[in-house]
Amino acid sequence: MTNFDFVPPATGNNPSSQKQGTNPGSFANAPDIGGPRAFSSPDTPGMPGVSDKTAWDFMPPDWQCDEGRWRAPVGFVAVTQLEHARLGITTPEMQRVAEREPHLSSDQVREEIAAGRMVIPANRAHLAMALDPMAIGRASRTKINANMGASPISSGGDEELKKLEWALKWGSDTVMDLSTGGDLDATREAIIKHSTAPIGTVPIYSMIIGRQIEDLDRETVLSCLEAQARQGVDYFTIHAGLRREHLEPVADRLIGIVSRGGSLLAKWMLHHGRENLMAEIWDDICELMRRYDVTFSIGDGLRPGGLSDATDRAQLGELAALGELTERAWRHGVQVMIEGPGHVPFDQVEYNMKLQRRVCHGAPFYVLGPLVTDVFPGYDHITSAIGATAAAYHGASMLCYVTPKEHLGLPKRDDVKQGCVAYRIAAHAADVALGIPASRDWDDELTKARAALHWEKHFELAFDSDTARAFHDEDLDVDTDFCAMCGHDWCAVRISKEISSFVSGKDAAYEWKKPRISSALSQEQKEILAKRGILTPSELQRLASKTQTTMGADEGQAACHSEVVDGEAKARELQKSSGLEAKTDSEPDPAPLP
Ligand code: SF4
Repeated sequence: MTNFDFVPPATGNNPSSQKQGTNPGSFANAPDIGGPRAFSSPDTPGMPGVSDKTAWDFMPPDWQCDEGRWRAPVGFVAVTQLEHARLGITTPEMQRVAEREPHLSSDQVREEIAAGRMVIPANRAHLAMALDPMAIGRASRTKINANMGASPISSGGDEELKKLEWALKWGSDTVMDLSTGGDLDATREAIIKHSTAPIGTVPIYSMIIGRQIEDLDRETVLSCLEAQARQGVDYFTIHAGLRREHLEPVADRLIGIVSRGGSLLAKWMLHHGRENLMAEIWDDICELMRRYDVTFSIGDGLRPGGLSDATDRAQLGELAALGELTERAWRHGVQVMIEGPGHVPFDQVEYNMKLQRRVCHGAPFYVLGPLVTDVFPGYDHITSAIGATAAAYHGASMLCYVTPKEHLGLPKRDDVKQGCVAYRIAAHAADVALGIPASRDWDDELTKARAALHWEKHFELAFDSDTARAFHDEDLDVDTDFCAMCGHDWCAVRISKEISSFVSGKDAAYEWKKPRISSALSQEQKEILAKRGILTPSELQRLASKTQTTMGADEGQAACHSEVVDGEAKARELQKSSGLEAKTDSEPDPAPLP
């Protein structure tokens, strides 16, 4: 063994509850639930540190603190999850979150909510329907959001319901209805009614139906918010951070303002020569949202729309305003999360996450992507999932998916699936890296099935079982001790399995000095492999089915699968008769192969 001077920095949790395998554990920081770092990446030198404040520093002015315990004024009735948490009350929703996230107790959930580092977006009206409460915060697992919604050009209410069903099936934790066309109220009502996940909206879209943005006023804003809150919307994106002073640096951007809400409000400000209307009436909005426990998702109207505009003065100026709005919302008892970019070069993702953590005092960060390159339209679910993985590792709590249709058109059902899968990958990869307890157990179980060449278990454990099975069966639709990627004689997993089968005595036919050579690939199968990518899936399936007979099995496992060997006793007997002694548990490992 080589002795390295550098040992792995295994300071985080082991994400495997059984500590299976040989991995030393997560290289993230040690868990700090109850503190500002929860599950966090080590800071690269120069990154902003954590804030020394939490939501406890922004209490309503009429609350009193007696001997470290906060008391509300006489007659006060707690409504929001934040208010309950401040009073030390554990709600059924907090208990449900702890059930869904077994690494957290309900007390820890309550404490994270009280500190403002976690939210449970659960409108009381939606709770009375089918909503299953969930939490967003860096002490919990990384969540993903799927956007949908009819546009004036395409899709309708029924199609949006199908997309909702599809998004939930493929693992979306929350869904945003961003409809700008069709019957907005009816579509929203149907989506809320059918969704077990929290629903978010950008209410300004419905505020301007039938009117010019210039005509938007306080009454219109509040009545629209009230109507949506009454319907059961769980979180609102409101672009109140964009200010007149931020518009000047936008002029030098390559792509200006790419947020719909941001561009509309910028136009309103320029027309009226006033500050952002949403910021002017922020306290009224907070009071309204508190009554229903609608959570803020404070919008980033100046998020960069290209790598060229990332981390610029406009974006960072708006972020500072988002921090102030967070403090004011907390004083009203309203739960807050913050929206973030967008398009960010990979090297700047950590800075963006840690700056938000500092400026917004740990309020959960909800990021769109970010895309780490601009030149792959059609594949932006991939370009953004790369940025999203880094974002979650460095502090984002929820990742808003991007579909292959981003920048190109309205996502259809399969685009929704592609986006969800890409983002489940990002979220899960980040959770394992952060050392969130038990997050790697699923990977370990699949690794064991893969090592055993147990295809059924392999498919069952795969996130998308159908696709995994179809890809396998495309070339070889029988259960063999190898797959079509390398074939029998080159299958490292099979050879490794044979070695362990030999040492456990299960393989009747294995002989050290005589490597098994098979003609496992039939002529038909060789043809399939040669034509892969040329034939249609149905032609491949037809050709692949012929291999069953060649492999010696009409169905189930083929004769070349080592699991077919008759029993361990017979295997040991056969090994002895061929002069090979099987190893027992107490015996040393065999000499390494030459
Ligand atoms: S043939 Fe290659 S890809 Fe397939 S199981 Fe064996 S090692 Fe893995």
